[in-house]
Formats: sequence, C-alpha cells, structure tokens
Amino acid sequence: MSGEGHVVPVGGPRSKRAFELPDKKTDEIKRANRILTALKKRYPDVRCELDFTNSHELLVATILSAQATDVGVNKATPALFERFPTPADYLGVTAEDVQPYLRTLNFWRNKAKSVHATMCHLHEHHGGEVPRTMEELLALRGVARKTANVVLGNAFGINNGVVVDTHVGRISRRFGLTEHEDPVKVERDLMALFPRPSWCILSHLMIFHGRRVCKARGGSCESDSICRRHCANAGA
Ligand code: SF4
Repeated sequence: MSGEGHVVPVGGPRSKRAFELPDKKTDEIKRANRILTALKKRYPDVRCELDFTNSHELLVATILSAQATDVGVNKATPALFERFPTPADYLGVTAEDVQPYLRTLNFWRNKAKSVHATMCHLHEHHGGEVPRTMEELLALRGVARKTANVVLGNAFGINNGVVVDTHVGRISRRFGLTEHEDPVKVERDLMALFPRPSWCILSHLMIFHGRRVCKARGGSCESDSICRRHCANAGA
C-alpha cells in the first residue's frame, strides 16, 4: 500500500468539498494498523457509551456531552427523552422548558437552547429526521465536526471522519500517531493512517483505552501489553 497523501470527501457522497490528508509512509500506516488490531482484540465489545435508541436521541446526547461525562449525560437523558420523544415535541415549548432536564450538566442553559433549536430545525427543515451529511449537520446549533462525526458514524454507519475528543487526541499523541494538538489536524493524521471503514470504531477503541488504561493524569504504562509495545512512554 502506498503512503501517498489523498483527498477524501468530507460531507458525504454528494459533497464537492474535500479534506486533504497528509502524506503517510507505508511503515507508519502498517504500524497504525497493528495498533488498531491490538485495540480491537483488547476491546471486542467496544461501543458508543452514550445511551440512545434512535438518531435524534444520539444527536441530543452528543450535544449534551460537550464538557460532560457520558455517565452524566446518560443520567439526564431518560427523563428528557420521555418528555420529548420526537423533534416535533419541542415545537410547542421554549428552551426554558427544556432547562430543568439538563440542570445536572455543565452549560445547561446553552445546551437547552441548542437542543431546542436543533430539534425544531429538524422538524421544520428535515421532516423530523436527522440529516446524513456533514454540511447539514454543521448547520445545526450546537453541532461541530466532532458531534457530526459521532452521529454519522454511530447512527448511520457513515465513516466521514474520526471523532477526536480529549481521549483520542491524548492517545494519538502518546502512540506517536500525531504531533498535533488541534483536533482537526489530529483527525487528518488519523484519517490518513487508518482504513476508512475503521474510523468510527477507532475513536471508540481509543476512548475505551483512554478511560481504562491511559488516563489523562497518568497511565498504567509498564503494566499494559499494548502500551509496552506501541507507546514510547512505556518503560520510560
Ligand atoms: S504507555 Fe502510558 S502513556 Fe502510553 S498509552 Fe499506555 S498508559 Fe498511555
């Protein structure tokens, strides 16, 4: 396989916009795939840790997950989803009516505005359905590239990009897969290194490893077999 840089559509199959990816050497790509294989073997039951039963619930949960834990979001969403089961149910209320369901989360006032505006927008412009393109998702209030990638990958199985949250960024740097701090630049490196069908699962694998082994304030460096093999910090 060649390590030449390439361009991928960023907004779904009909998008004319493209995401230019950096050049990667063949041995870098092979090494990345060895890491992917090891993580898949370690975490065979990896999954999105947000609770949802349909695409609009996932969109809401992902908006709420900014600066919040998945556990915290999962505690808040059952009552919210029961009160507002569909996007149409947000039409007759205001953002203030959504606030009481989100008070346990950071930035709950803003999140209530985002959820309310987004659900009303879905009803008014998308027939109550969550759109399946990056451009349409980015037009929604409270939705940036990371949220759009979560929804596309987990609700629709569309590998449009790689979700880069704090865990994915940290693990990517510690494994030597990127030198960047900027999530978009990290994402480009990961997209260039890993096969497209793996992009959604890759972020879950890194998040699992980040939560269980390679925590922000120090990992189990020497005692973990994946780390010993793939991270320069092990044994340092
Ligand atoms: S060796 Fe340490 S720093 Fe490196 S990935 Fe493992 S836990 Fe994280």
